Amino acid sequence: MIVTIEPKARPCPGVERAISMAEDALRHGETVYSIGELIHNTREIERLEKLGLVQIQNQVLDQAEKLRKKYAGSDFLVRAHGERQSVIDQARECGLNPINATCQIVRHSQDMVEQHIRDGWRIIIVGKKEHPEVLGLLDRTNGNGSVVSSPDEASEQEFEERSLLLAQSTVDPELFSSVRRTLSKRLSDLKIMDTTCRFIRTRQKDITEFSQGQDLMLIVGGKHSSNCRLLYETARKVNPRSYHIEGPKDIDWSWFQEGDCVGISGGASTPRWQMEEVKNYLENRSQEKGPKGLKNRKGGIFTWWMKRKTPKTK
Ligand code: SF4
Repeated sequence: MIVTIEPKARPCPGVERAISMAEDALRHGETVYSIGELIHNTREIERLEKLGLVQIQNQVLDQAEKLRKKYAGSDFLVRAHGERQSVIDQARECGLNPINATCQIVRHSQDMVEQHIRDGWRIIIVGKKEHPEVLGLLDRTNGNGSVVSSPDEASEQEFEERSLLLAQSTVDPELFSSVRRTLSKRLSDLKIMDTTCRFIRTRQKDITEFSQGQDLMLIVGGKHSSNCRLLYETARKVNPRSYHIEGPKDIDWSWFQEGDCVGISGGASTPRWQMEEVKNYLENRSQEKGPKGLKNRKGGIFTWWMKRKTPKTK
């Protein structure tokens, strides 16, 4: 088995910045709060939690008076994909000091929404209805915004003229193009801003090229991360033997065949250490249980290690 990490795989600048802001805030050993997940990567969040990060749900902030004593003076990190302004205001009321780790690209979209709402425009966002970034943008429309999640919705929903169309940064660019084509035909006064993240578009190209040269691809990253799912789907289009995993525990040895070239890549919120961990795991396990010198009863190669569903942990 030859295992290679895609040379261009790395976390995006927005996630790198959010992680480094979290590490800075946690350096003094005090508890730092985040409302929801700072980034969509459970294992990286677990690492930060060990340093003192505590996740709270925004519903908790409804009890502002009760919590004032507990939270007063503590820092809270606004996640990379942004937060609703109303939630940030509520956190302030509870005595928390916001540290804004919102990615610059998302901040730009938020600014565009606020500016256009002030100028009397309506907003149409292409993205997932429950995604934190979409909720944050929608919150800034003061009720003058809507979300489109599929080409069918673009054809069927009612929209008003003088609308600004923009995208959740990690939405599939093909979905955005399709919605844009449909709405351009339906609305004569439609302003379009392609706010899909360029980093993700470049990563789609890189992953396509890299996946074509591998027998099997492992895309490492959060299962509920939109960008990670998108990059996994991108890899799968050119390499059907592609799998989305969060870490070594998700690996199923029946996926592998002898002599496979295995490629590893990750999403925009996957730090390098998680890809290296998977590489080391595969290499160690294959050396430890590999066919070196071991023969089965018929004299063939002893390959039980490839077939095990759940590998033993070391
Ligand atoms: S994926 Fe793009 S928009 Fe999202 S945090 Fe990273 S750089 Fe920012």
